[in-house]
Amino acid sequence: MPASTAVSLSKVSRVFGPVTALDGIDLDVRPGEFFAMLGPSGSGKTTCLRLVAGFEQPSSGRVAIFGEDVTGVPPYRRAVNTVFQDYALFPHFDVRDNVAYPLMLRKVSKAERHAAAEAALEMVRLSGYGARRPAQLSGGQRQRVALARAIVARPKVLLLDEPLGALDLKLRESMQEELKSLQRALGLTFVFVTHDQGEALSMADRIAVFSAGRIEQVGSPEDVYRRPANRFVADFVGSANILPPGLVARLAGERRWASLRPEDVRLVACEGADPALVGRITARSYLGASTRLALDLGGLSVHVVRPAGELLPTEGPVAIAFEREALHLMEREA
Ligand code: ATP
Repeated sequence: MPASTAVSLSKVSRVFGPVTALDGIDLDVRPGEFFAMLGPSGSGKTTCLRLVAGFEQPSSGRVAIFGEDVTGVPPYRRAVNTVFQDYALFPHFDVRDNVAYPLMLRKVSKAERHAAAEAALEMVRLSGYGARRPAQLSGGQRQRVALARAIVARPKVLLLDEPLGALDLKLRESMQEELKSLQRALGLTFVFVTHDQGEALSMADRIAVFSAGRIEQVGSPEDVYRRPANRFVADFVGSANILPPGLVARLAGERRWASLRPEDVRLVACEGADPALVGRITARSYLGASTRLALDLGGLSVHVVRPAGELLPTEGPVAIAFEREALHLMEREA
């Protein structure tokens, strides 16, 4: 296996009794990459992360980390570390001992442990908090302690299971930026699991989109958002309009499903418009920076997002318009 991949899964399956949690996954994560595993609940992403961590073993297939086959190797012998959603901090330890804990297990001397813990706390901007107990910290600070503990022993790959899931929206947004700059500063490979498409799009270098134990697409945020491989990806990542083959054949001359992003759709007068693109507005929501409209086009539901301040019709029939390039034709499905 090439060492130019940080994490490599080859034909990995994991079966739990009657449930196939992962079904023959192939995946390569590059060194230094911020990689997201995105998918709905039950799609297999946590199982996939646990296989890389070593908490699970594949029913078949191989797992390699930096070129080393680690299938069957226990977690503590892998060059990875995991940050769990609940942080798993020891309540009776102070922050410094929580962070130093992995080094204590490795019998590192107290002075060295404490120096490393201080350095890790500085990385996550918690210098001076070493003597506190976890209960004396905010949610965001606890999250950062968990991060400091995960990086103190310098793993090659950091695995994060819904790392920001327990934080409120505002804190989550600022932690997204912090996580990203921490990852850059450390030059580590981060692999994180999320069901939040916005989080994956804003943080990841590349995203694997999971569905029912399989990977539907791997690509940059732009790839999966603008060029979804299929209807599942188009629907799950963002909120694309899905246009049926009949309509697409008429508009683009190809009998295929297509996706169309709500922000790429304009509203225009009906005169001269293709009758298939004429409909009426059924709902309107004010989103602050934009307005979201739902349209009914002869039974086809289409969403439109327009910037705030744009003059929009309030009643009567309207037509939609969009650039040909905005229409993304999807792969023919088996
Ligand atoms: P979530 O976002 O809800 O955590 P997920 O995408 O991470 O979902 P997994 O936790 O990987 O999904 O689960 C995938 C499938 O495998 C689910 O159907 C789940 O019920 C099943 N599963 C996972 N772990 C076990 C287990 N230890 N025993 C039995 N079934 C399991």
